[in-house]
Amino acid sequence: MSKNKKVGVMGGTFDPIHYGHLVTAEAARTHFNLDKVIFTPTGKPPHKKGYSVTPAEDRYLMTVLAINSNPYFDISRMEIERPGLTYTVDTLEQFYNELGKDVKLYFISGADAVLDILTWKDVEKVLGYCTFIAATRPGYPVEELNQKLLQIKQMYGQEVYPMEVTGLDISSTDIRRRVKEGLSIKYLLPESVETYIQKSGLYR
Ligand code: ATP
Ligand code: MG
Repeated sequence: MSKNKKVGVMGGTFDPIHYGHLVTAEAARTHFNLDKVIFTPTGKPPHKKGYSVTPAEDRYLMTVLAINSNPYFDISRMEIERPGLTYTVDTLEQFYNELGKDVKLYFISGADAVLDILTWKDVEKVLGYCTFIAATRPGYPVEELNQKLLQIKQMYGQEVYPMEVTGLDISSTDIRRRVKEGLSIKYLLPESVETYIQKSGLYR
C-alpha cells in the first residue's frame, strides 16, 4: 500500500532557532514534496555537553514565533514533554504510532548531525522509521558527507538522501556568543525571535 501523506520532522535544540534551520526545512519540504514539516524542539539532548541548554519553554516559544509565517510548518511538544534524555528513535517511533500507517516520515538533518549519526541510539531503527535527509551545511565538506552516506549504506543497507541547501553559515552557538558580547544578531534569525531574545534577556 502506498502512503498518502508525507511529513517531515525537523529536530533540533533551536537554542535559538535561526534562518539556517528554516531554509533547510523549507528546502526539504519543496524538494521532497512534503505535506508539512513538524519542528520538534529537543527536550534534554544527550549530545550537547559543556553548556547548559536554555529552558525548553523558551526554545519552544522562539520556534513558534519563527515558523508562524509558513502555513506548512508545524511544531510538536513531544520531545520537551518526554521525560529523560531525548533520543530521535523514540520520537520517530511516537510519530509513527500517532500519525498512522498512511503517513511516510522524513527526518531532516544537517550534515554535522549526519556525520555523527553512528553514535546515535538505535541508528538502524531510526533509519527504518523514516526517509533520512542529510542537508549540506557550510563548514562540513560534501565529500566527507558523501563518504558517511556510503558507510551508512554499507552498514545498514539504508539510503540517506543528500540535499543541497543554500549555504547559510549560521549557528546557534555563534548567535549565543554574539548576544553575550553585545554584537548584532539582526538578519541571522527572524525579527520576532530577535525581539524575544532581547526582552527575555536570554544569552546575556
Ligand atoms: P548549536 O550551535 O547550538 O549546535 P545549531 O545551529 O547547530 O546549534 P541545532 O539546533 O543544533 O542548531 O541544529 C538542528 C538541526 O539543524 C541539525 O540537524 C543541524 O545540522 C541543522 N542545521 C543547523 N544550522 C544549519 C545550517 N546553517 N545549515 C544547515 N543545517 C543546519
Ligand atoms: Mg548543532
